[in-house]
Amino acid sequence: MEKTIIIGSGPAGWTAAIYAARASLSPLLIEGAVTLENQEKNRLPMGQIALTTEVENFPGFPPGDLGGYLDSAISKGRKGMLPPRDAELTGVSGPELVELIRAQAVYFGTRVVSDDVIDVDFSQLPYKLIGATGNIYETKTVIIATGASANYLGLESENRFKNRGVSACAICDGALPRFRNKPLVVIGGGDAAVEEALYLTKFTSKIYLVHRRDQLRASKIVAKRATEHSAIEFLWNRIPEEILGNDKEGVTGVLLKSTVGEPVMELTTSGLFVAIGRTPNTEFLKGKLALTEKGVIARPIPFRTNTSVPGVFTAGDVADDYYRQAISAAGTGCMAALDAERYLATLNR
Ligand SMILES: Cc1cc2nc3c(=O)[nH]c(=O)nc-3n(C[C@H](O)[C@H](O)[C@H](O)COP(=O)(O)OP(=O)(O)OC[C@H]3O[C@@H](n4cnc5c(N)ncnc54)[C@H](O)[C@@H]3O)c2cc1C
Repeated sequence: MEKTIIIGSGPAGWTAAIYAARASLSPLLIEGAVTLENQEKNRLPMGQIALTTEVENFPGFPPGDLGGYLDSAISKGRKGMLPPRDAELTGVSGPELVELIRAQAVYFGTRVVSDDVIDVDFSQLPYKLIGATGNIYETKTVIIATGASANYLGLESENRFKNRGVSACAICDGALPRFRNKPLVVIGGGDAAVEEALYLTKFTSKIYLVHRRDQLRASKIVAKRATEHSAIEFLWNRIPEEILGNDKEGVTGVLLKSTVGEPVMELTTSGLFVAIGRTPNTEFLKGKLALTEKGVIARPIPFRTNTSVPGVFTAGDVADDYYRQAISAAGTGCMAALDAERYLATLNR
């Protein structure tokens, strides 16, 4: 039986593994599997941060030449799996960052398996985790760090321009030079979309907020701030039909079709921010522990990583639909490992 198993391979999971390994818990980390289904659902191993090119806001990585450091910190085999570095990139890329956190976890003794957890049994000790491979993992404590998956529109042109003008995170990408002082488009009508549009007003004076209905779903107070903001123009009853662009510039425009029979409209833009929600990776947990109405894991004790099941802890975006950043995920990963370590000490008393 394992002392602790970590499920998930984003910044939260790997950071939990660093702390658990250094506390001599000899953690096993189940990192997910490379499958077509996971690719389609945007939840391949290494997490959401591996989907982005530049990471400018993770502490410790100012712009600079990381070349020699990456070569020495990451094994040759793993380095060969990283996507080629963008020639203009001056700091750390998303795949590099999470690979470095993984290398640190493995260096301290974390064991890694490629599998998807598809079911759990938390009814008695040892807790059982059932993998898609058919393997059953037994453990005294669990840290669930399975993250969330950004919802995209599903357009072919959207795929082509991801990281080249199409983004699912304004707070992460809004400050990048490609978006500064350019007209931008935000898609969505909930709180997240409106907040992303408001956030982008720091960097540009023209934002189109495109929504498929004729009114926002966002809370009144957030909606009021957006409607009163001179930089934000609402385009109602519209959905993207095609994202326009080219290999050199990335996104240059978008075609918007009408949901009420108006003609197609073309907008010039350098960026399209898709804010149509995130799906927490919690399907396999339904009925096994408490989830909130938004489907994220409930944390009954404020500022702790406990779940509703003793000995099961959680970290990162799977339990956080508010901050959703790599550094906050890593921070809660640290907390979850410390909570698991203290809980194990009480079992051994
Ligand atoms: C396009 C984009 C750009 C971003 N840019 C930035 C940025 O610049 N800076 C920043 O701070 N944040 C950024 N973020 C947000 C950041 O990536 C997330 O907040 C962070 O990755 C969350 O980490 P996590 O460890 O909680 O989970 P995730 O990163 O979501 O990783 C969880 C992983 O666990 C695995 N998993 C899921 N289910 C299972 C299962 N059942 N069994 C086994 N494994 C499983 C999968 O491999 C999954 O990918 C960005 C997000 C997106 C979508």
